Amino acid sequence: MRRQPATIYRRDTTMKAIQAARGTRDLLPPETELWNHIEATSRRVFARYCFGEIRTPIFEDTQLFARSVGEETDIVSKEMYTWEDRARAQSEKAQSLTLRPENTAGVVRAYIEHKLGETGLLQKLYYIGPQFRRERPQKGRYRQFYQIGAEVIGPTSAGSESPLRDAEILEMLATLLDELGIAEWKLYLNSVGSASDRPRYVLALQEALKEIAPKLCADCQRRVQTNPLRVLDCKIPEDQPFIETLPKIAEFLDADSQVHFAQVCAALDACGVPYIVNPRLVRGLDYYTRTTFEFVHTGLGAQNALLGGGRYDGLSEAIGGPKAPGIGFAMGADRLVLTLQAQRESQNATAIASLADAYIAPLGEAQQVQALVLARELRRAGLRVELGDGSFRIKKSFEIGNRLARRIVLFGEEEAQSSIMTVKDFASGAQTKIPRAELAQALQQR
Ligand code: AMP
Repeated sequence: MRRQPATIYRRDTTMKAIQAARGTRDLLPPETELWNHIEATSRRVFARYCFGEIRTPIFEDTQLFARSVGEETDIVSKEMYTWEDRARAQSEKAQSLTLRPENTAGVVRAYIEHKLGETGLLQKLYYIGPQFRRERPQKGRYRQFYQIGAEVIGPTSAGSESPLRDAEILEMLATLLDELGIAEWKLYLNSVGSASDRPRYVLALQEALKEIAPKLCADCQRRVQTNPLRVLDCKIPEDQPFIETLPKIAEFLDADSQVHFAQVCAALDACGVPYIVNPRLVRGLDYYTRTTFEFVHTGLGAQNALLGGGRYDGLSEAIGGPKAPGIGFAMGADRLVLTLQAQRESQNATAIASLADAYIAPLGEAQQVQALVLARELRRAGLRVELGDGSFRIKKSFEIGNRLARRIVLFGEEEAQSSIMTVKDFASGAQTKIPRAELAQALQQR
């Protein structure tokens, strides 16, 4: 085989440096500490409520989202990253694939595919991962964003329709936001009724829309014909006074849906979780039935929804599965980060865990390898250690050590021979001599 000549990369000064694609961004330290804190706290809380983790693929068959989220929703009609995957053989048709814009559909697909309903038990699953929507980027709204979500789904015989499940999820969310340290959240709650309530409401909506439709935006005029419920998602300011006059879904609930909603509210009252009933809350995805909810944060500006969710009693059947009522939510991790950052700034708090416990400064190249061995000892004892460079002069070691760590451990010829280390604490300025065998323990004391 002829070998290809090696590619030689040269700096092209005429070319602009490549940047992250619009609406995507890199998450860098120390901000990633905050991300880890949010993810670790979520995992801890989910474990206490007996949820297990599920990881579904980043892309799925496009039909999954069309049939669950709904063709007429903003997500499916405008925001999905979809492509035709090349057919592997001539006999095969190209498959339309889509980067997941949300994760509930993927979880329910997995529930059906793995026949999880046959266990007869409720499935309590959580996920953490990126989602993709081609939205207009702004603060708190990205094209690649991250959701932390959970679903409770199962056969009716396992109690999946019980209002207690709704209340338990909402109570868990209140606990999670409190443990994350999110102050001042508000929970908005509504019921959008069952599949049997929906046709009566849609009829009333269509009747009311006859008069106002010509005054609405082009998107709404199309939705009037295709899916009138989605008119309620319109964000065009000029349309809002007309939309305000439309009948509210809460007025069309049958007795069963009313009782279900009353039981959710009563259970929340019993737990002391505060909520505000908002009869306009329908949420922009077709699969919701009965309970819908949103947690908002007053400090977030326009993109103030921290998380949203609701029941989806007919979703499994809509994508070809057995009857499997469920309820779930998705929390915007990006918005939790923004909220916690803003809170920390206002409290003047420093970034968490940003400084190492010690910076080891080998004072010459001869101590370099020994300093690596010392760093290994200390790290194995659980300390966060930065390792300096033996080619640095002592002044530079102090300068860098001061930026990276709370203390500096000097490792020169004398320390190597005597096994007594010189340690300086940057905050107090105190300098002490500590035998190497006691060093780990001494550094553990904050
Ligand atoms: P949804 O899946 O639309 O119900 O959204 C659930 C949550 O995900 C929202 O409350 C937001 O916190 C977050 N979210 C949705 N879209 C975006 C986006 N484009 N950028 C950042 N966060 C988002």
